[in-house]
Amino acid sequence: MGSKVSLVGCRSYNRDSVFKAVEKSIDLLGGIDSIIKPKSKVLVKPNLLTDARAEDCITTHPQVVEAVIEILKKISARIIVGDSPSVFGERKDIEKVYETTGMRQVCQRQRVELVYFDKAVVKKGFPLTEWIDKCDYIVNVPKFKTHNFTVLTASIKNLFGLVLGFYKARLHKESLNPEDFSKYLVDIFELTRPVLNIVDAVVSLEGDGPGSSGIKVDIGLIVSGQDAVAVDSIFATIMGLFPHDIPMIKQASSRNLGIANLEEIEIVGENLGEYIRDNFKLPTIWFYHKLPSILLYFAKRLIKFKMVILPSRCQSCRKCIEICPMCAISLRDDKAYIDSKKCILCSCCQEICPYRAIEIKKSLLLKLLEI
Ligand code: SF4
Ligand code: SF4
Repeated sequence: MGSKVSLVGCRSYNRDSVFKAVEKSIDLLGGIDSIIKPKSKVLVKPNLLTDARAEDCITTHPQVVEAVIEILKKISARIIVGDSPSVFGERKDIEKVYETTGMRQVCQRQRVELVYFDKAVVKKGFPLTEWIDKCDYIVNVPKFKTHNFTVLTASIKNLFGLVLGFYKARLHKESLNPEDFSKYLVDIFELTRPVLNIVDAVVSLEGDGPGSSGIKVDIGLIVSGQDAVAVDSIFATIMGLFPHDIPMIKQASSRNLGIANLEEIEIVGENLGEYIRDNFKLPTIWFYHKLPSILLYFAKRLIKFKMVILPSRCQSCRKCIEICPMCAISLRDDKAYIDSKKCILCSCCQEICPYRAIEIKKSLLLKLLEI
């Protein structure tokens, strides 16, 4: 057996249930003191994508983060919490994310430091938050969701938030397809290697996640493990996929950064089989991934996706305009408009739109192929 992953049932975000589930999931791995040296400095990294409320299930639930903090306190860890959400520049925007997601309230209650990722250490060309060097360990606390560009987001993808805001847009701009983007994600994972991943999969998102276009789905699990590749492979399986269907898992395992073969993963706690969904709603772009590459090569011009704005829902908040790495969005007649010639389908606009006003439209041929 290689990597160990624990699955613990957790049916609600009730404080006690979450604490017990998180504690049990870590105990099943051998206990927190077998993973982290007492009195160490630990960076806790939740997924705080945007200024969504806990009940929207877009960000890591504050109760899960609070449970992680309480467990780390048992070994007298010095705890830092932070993220680089998908908003740019101004401190007030990040503050709004910390406030709305409930992270500020958790950190105040627990008297731990909530920091901003505004100073970088550059590692292999990536400007990563300086906190990775100021801390002894990273504890990764992602949310499991679908993702319209990378298919799923959990442990590996959450580490993208260690990159400083402005540079994330550049990486998107340089990644014209999910495979290229996954290479960057795996590079960042290799540079940061969290000591522990504790994933909030109590209520997740299926369909067109990871933002407000996703659909809430009860998974009812806290999943933990030291091997991020093994943990994410469990989520691919829950979605009804093979781990190697997900480009970032495939790349990470081919670079020997973790185990993606389920037979080599030691699963403890719940029975994985009971959580596998054969009707899990995959993101729209999934169809693109599953086409044989030879067919994809010839049919590329015909099999098209297009990111479109639904004018009736657009509130002209400009968030999508600010985040688009390709400057493909502008306001026309007071509604957002996407220039599809510039769009690389990175999904950043869709994940940040608070009003579900951005959708992926499929060409007629694609719709026919799906039938
Ligand atoms: S599409 Fe969404 S994010 Fe863009 S301006 Fe409209 S409401 Fe705001
Ligand atoms: S329009 Fe949206 S999907 Fe297209 S490049 Fe811009 S942010 Fe990405």
